[in-house]
Amino acid sequence: MKSEFRRLPSVDKLLSDDRVRELEASHSRELVVEVARQVLEESRQSISRGDPAPSAEALAAAVADRVRALAEPSLLPVINATGVIIHTNLGRAPLSWEAIAAMEQASFGYSNLELDLGTGGRGHRDVHLGPILCRLTGAEDAMVVNNNASAVLLALIALCKRKEVIVSRGQAVEIGGGFRVPDVMKQSGAKLVEVGTTNCTYVTDYEQAITPHTAALLRVHSSNFKVVGFAQEVDISDLAELGRKKGLPVLDDLGSGCLLDTAGFGLAPEPTVPDSVAAGAALSMFSGDKLLGGPQAGIIVGRAELVARLRKHPLARAVRIDKTRLAGLAATLGHYLKGEAEQKVPVWQMIAMPLDDIERRAREWARHLGEAAAVTDGESVVGGGSLPGSGLPTKLVVIKGAPGAKGPSPAQRLARKLREGRPPVLARIEANAVLLDPRTVRPEDDPVVIRALQDALA
Ligand SMILES: *Cc1c(COP(=O)(O)O)cnc(C)c1O
Repeated sequence: MKSEFRRLPSVDKLLSDDRVRELEASHSRELVVEVARQVLEESRQSISRGDPAPSAEALAAAVADRVRALAEPSLLPVINATGVIIHTNLGRAPLSWEAIAAMEQASFGYSNLELDLGTGGRGHRDVHLGPILCRLTGAEDAMVVNNNASAVLLALIALCKRKEVIVSRGQAVEIGGGFRVPDVMKQSGAKLVEVGTTNCTYVTDYEQAITPHTAALLRVHSSNFKVVGFAQEVDISDLAELGRKKGLPVLDDLGSGCLLDTAGFGLAPEPTVPDSVAAGAALSMFSGDKLLGGPQAGIIVGRAELVARLRKHPLARAVRIDKTRLAGLAATLGHYLKGEAEQKVPVWQMIAMPLDDIERRAREWARHLGEAAAVTDGESVVGGGSLPGSGLPTKLVVIKGAPGAKGPSPAQRLARKLREGRPPVLARIEANAVLLDPRTVRPEDDPVVIRALQDALA
């Protein structure tokens, strides 16, 4: 073991290796020295556990890899060929060019973010989105925060802390990624009162649970699952009517928050924000980066007096939205105002993409891959906790793996190669075949996908 220690080079010796010296051209010397020390220290530890000393090449390569990995961004653009349009792991909604331009402009210089250009005095960032949100949803007032989870938390804390909030048992659910209605409720300091059963809740269940401590009735859209068979939920308008009768606000967590009628696209109906407002919800809350197709945000629309209470609450400052996303959201909402969302917002372009166009692209991809690939019928899904169980007919490129021997199946190996390429291409695996859906790939990326597939299959 002693002799193994002696085979390790000194720090200076390691630093004089060509592969390590090269690093100093584009990285600071301090960083290279520190990483070289670290790598040597780790080798000493592994020798004391009985391993042999690494070769000079291995040490130099380890230093080079680690320095480059530290300096390079790990957040990379990827190509989404999964057919899941709003994919939370892949960053949800891609933005329109107009939204991207607006965000770039807001980042480049200064803006009147919180300045009233008329008076020269202090303004509020909510004024930039309030009017357009009210116009699009029919609400009296609006505010925008970091994301929908913070919107719901803010509403519960500002309006319901130390009081009771009534929720249907079928809606005290987990939305995914750790957003559990009962846990959010606990964090807000509001007491959750569950009513009804897992599959059935009636207006009378809410009514009987109302006490002098009740602060609100909450509706949570079951955005990522569907109860089929014998099931009964209370309609938001019936809930709002009960609220009016009892003087209680109805808070509506819509999740995705759609502004267009999904039924017109062959999808199941998703509750829209204007419907929620018109039905009498006191506050309707939804995400900016799901079906709306904008940047990450939490949007709260509803009664002016309640929005004002949220805006005044100290937590509002902690969950406020930044200027770039505010600009991107304003541009995204602009598409809806102009009636061009379907043409300009990528999420809606993908939903509305004609099947013929998808098939033509799938055949073009397959043509470059020869025997290995075929085109087949399949389904794209909207994803992002919206429209569970509702898919869009699509055409998939299917690459069948040969029946697997030991270890990962051929399909898994191919999917992995695609994922590890640059740019990474994300595919779906089903029944030992790799499936790729052109619907979620921007058409200008088609040559990149073809190239990645050719490389991975070579
Ligand atoms: C997605 C979702 C949330 C969380 O929204 P984020 O914008 O991801 O914070 C909350 N409630 C429902 C019903 C959702 O679908």
